[in-house]
Amino acid sequence: MRKKIVAGNWKMNKSLSEGKILANELSQGLFKINTDVQIVLGVPFIHLSSVAEIMQSTAVVSAQDCSHEVSGAFTGEISASMVASTGANAVILGHSERRMQHAEDNALLSDKVNVSLSNNLQVIYCCGEVLKERETNQHFGVVESQIKEALFHLTEEQISHVVIAYEPVWAIGTGVTASSDQAQEMHAHIRKVIADKYGNDLAQNTSIIYGGSCKPSNAKELFLKEDVDGGLIGGASLVASDFLQIIQSY
Ligand code: PEP
Repeated sequence: MRKKIVAGNWKMNKSLSEGKILANELSQGLFKINTDVQIVLGVPFIHLSSVAEIMQSTAVVSAQDCSHEVSGAFTGEISASMVASTGANAVILGHSERRMQHAEDNALLSDKVNVSLSNNLQVIYCCGEVLKERETNQHFGVVESQIKEALFHLTEEQISHVVIAYEPVWAIGTGVTASSDQAQEMHAHIRKVIADKYGNDLAQNTSIIYGGSCKPSNAKELFLKEDVDGGLIGGASLVASDFLQIIQSY
């Protein structure tokens, strides 16, 4: 059975002390909730080790990016092995903000996926179309290419450590959520693309989560869809009560 996942993406928010307060609130809240959902916290690099220490086994702590290089003269960069050394166990790769603001393409992301997996980090690989691509009916093709070009060189064993996050770019931070039918349609398509390459068993075991203005008021409807295995939550992950409510709606 594939895992249900609710992941937060704090983006570039929270000072170190604010981040510790939020992590402590989440840790206390999760202690009271009996859930089989895997919780992931995607936090800024500077928070990784503190949040890992606070959350212990209650949540998987994740970076929001890492370098495609192994080590060396890359000022300002953070490698996958450095992420792993903090106690973090995962990394978000290919977020649309990285793709657009840092010109990350599928080829670069494929290298980032490789270094992350070789450092035993679970990869949360983001894909999703912009509004124009949806309006011109290119969304299925765009998402398919993002997945094929960055992931389809992996072995079955390697791809079993990858979670796919479908995040339509027009829904991120806009307050506009994809309808649960739109999410289901794309998630089913992604699962079929994976099944065509790796077989149905592996596809059925791959978690595909939805991101884009997911909040307490719409999470339940999205998570009820057959191929939606949870959410990647931006804004609503910055408030402990909202994030906990989203987890409980599962
Ligand atoms: C995100 O950036 O991954 C995201 C889903 O953001 P939001 O929930 O704020 O739309």
